[in-house]
Amino acid sequence: MKRNIKMKDISDGRLYGPDDMVRAGCDDCAGCSKCCHVVGDTIKLDPYDVYRLVSGLHVSFEVLLQDRIELHVVDGIIRPNLKMDEKKNACTFLNDYGRCTIHELRPGFCRMFPLGRYFENGGFKYFLQIHECYREMRRLVRVRKFIDTPDLEANTVFVNHWHDFLEALEDNLAGLSPEENSQLNLYLLKTFYVTPYDETKDFYAQFEERLAESRKALAL
Ligand code: SF4
Ligand code: SF4
Repeated sequence: MKRNIKMKDISDGRLYGPDDMVRAGCDDCAGCSKCCHVVGDTIKLDPYDVYRLVSGLHVSFEVLLQDRIELHVVDGIIRPNLKMDEKKNACTFLNDYGRCTIHELRPGFCRMFPLGRYFENGGFKYFLQIHECYREMRRLVRVRKFIDTPDLEANTVFVNHWHDFLEALEDNLAGLSPEENSQLNLYLLKTFYVTPYDETKDFYAQFEERLAESRKALAL
């Protein structure tokens, strides 16, 4: 999702690589779950986030859609996001003790927070969102350890390729009729989220195959 803001207003002015130290450590958020509340539809899920939930919880995408995730159109493209429990005004995966019940499977957005990604020159760096975490004294932590994502290099390639693909799609949306746009979104949903990935094989390789086929089919 594109944000029209100035980096100097929301960050400490630095960009971080995976091996840099950043003051983001909040001791596993002990005693705090503020950013799992009132987040609306902002926790967007990429294909790897959904794969992680589908394979880890042993459910289909359709089952997740019943009460755990929902679909919204962002910049003209349909995207899943975590659903909020309206009564608790919190993520449906947050338990009554304020802990995440899917810690090992949590989406990339939750792993990074309060870091964000800043894309430029065909790649991205991380930045620290200084107004987002309510904990005053945060520890210095290494970005790689903090994000806690297996095979971060492969994941970074995936994030870049997915981001580039969405950007290319957005550039091509303007000329589409509403019907063509809806067909395109159904195709994307089916290709990247609904059709199950083979859990015995590498996710990233399967994603790249689907991406190459989609780029060809959509002439991107
Ligand atoms: S998935 Fe876990 S960490 Fe992310 S918002 Fe939900 S409860 Fe919080
Ligand atoms: S506000 Fe900070 S400490 Fe609290 S849940 Fe969010 S990241 Fe963790």
